[in-house]
Amino acid sequence: MPRPKSFIKRLTVERVAHAHNCQHNQKHRLEAGEVRLKVTINRTNENYCANCAIQILNRDIDKLRRLVQEIESMR
Ligand SMILES: [Zn+2]
Repeated sequence: MPRPKSFIKRLTVERVAHAHNCQHNQKHRLEAGEVRLKVTINRTNENYCANCAIQILNRDIDKLRRLVQEIESMR
């Protein structure tokens, strides 16, 4: 049997090593030691602060639920 696949393999949570700005809002400063969401796209990383990450992920969770419902309703 094939291994279960994932569409969200590129998402990881980690601690900030060196201070930088949030990719979603340049006014959000991430300081060393804070938590961030790392999104790897085509071998480059985009990093988001905790507040932005939670908002974006919650929106995506809703979208994923809708997609599951859509598939269920069409088969
Ligand atoms: Zn942010």
